[in-house]
This record gives sequence, structure tokens and C-alpha cells, in this order.
Amino acid sequence: MILISSCMAGLATRYDGNDAYVPALDQLVRAGKAVLACPEQLGGLPTPRPPAEIVGGDGYDVLDGKARVIDANGRDVTAAFLKGAEQTLKLARAVGAKQAVLKENSPSCGSSFIYDGTFRGEKQSGAGVTTALLERNGIQVISEAELAHLFPEGSI
Ligand code: SF4
Repeated sequence: MILISSCMAGLATRYDGNDAYVPALDQLVRAGKAVLACPEQLGGLPTPRPPAEIVGGDGYDVLDGKARVIDANGRDVTAAFLKGAEQTLKLARAVGAKQAVLKENSPSCGSSFIYDGTFRGEKQSGAGVTTALLERNGIQVISEAELAHLFPEGSI
């Protein structure tokens, strides 16, 4: 079983109330091979919600108390992001997921890139909060850009 970001299966869970649909991931869900989670909703945040960025580091730093997640209104939403990460890990464990395909660039779901905390649209290398927690607990996280490595064409 694979864990995937809800927004990539077509659910309108993004901060702006839209989805980020990736047809191949929807296929996985329909085949009964994937479960969905939106860490930010699981953390109790509403949809739509102000965009948020990690300030002072990446998701690993948030887990270690060295960085915070701040939304575009200046509100500290770190606790909600941590709760969402924990709930997502709980779900992954419940279904025995050892791999996850999560949305790149998100402060929760990014695996290679996240926004840099300045709200200027600039990205930096780093993982989101949920990705960091999953990886610390032995779950491999890749992004939609790496999907072909996990599922060569025709294997879904
Ligand atoms: Fe998608 Fe993850 Fe953002 Fe939820 S938290 S909308 S699953 S990228």
C-alpha cells in the first residue's frame, strides 16, 4: 500500500481550494493500491487556508524545534503542521505503507524542494514536515516528478 497526497488524487485540499491532479496516482487509488492523506487538513487547518512556509530551515528542523511554520498572515501554524504529520504517520502505519508519493514544494509534503520562507515564490532544497517525519520512521517519500522511477510505464 502506498500513501499519496490527497490533492494529487483530485481532492480539492490545497490551500487555495484547488487540487493538483495526477492521473497516474488516481489510477493507483482506483486499483486499491493507495490511500490518501492531506496532512494540513489532518492537522486541523481549514480549506481554503492562507499559504504557509517553513521559516528558519526545513521539515527536519521543524521536528527538532529549530524552525517554525508561518502562514501568509504571520500566524504560527507549526502545531497544526506537526499534528498533521503525526496523523499521517499513524495512517501510514495502520495500512502498512512503506512508500509515499507526496506533492513537491509543499511545506508538509515536499521531498526535494520547499519554499524558502520569504513568501516571494523562491524555492530551496529541503523536505516538508510530514515528509521529514515519515522518512525518520522508515517510509520512503518521493514526489510526483519521480513517479516513473517507482512505477515504470504500464506497471500500475
Ligand atoms: Fe496536498 Fe499535502 Fe498540501 Fe494537503 S498538505 S493539499 S496533501 S500538498
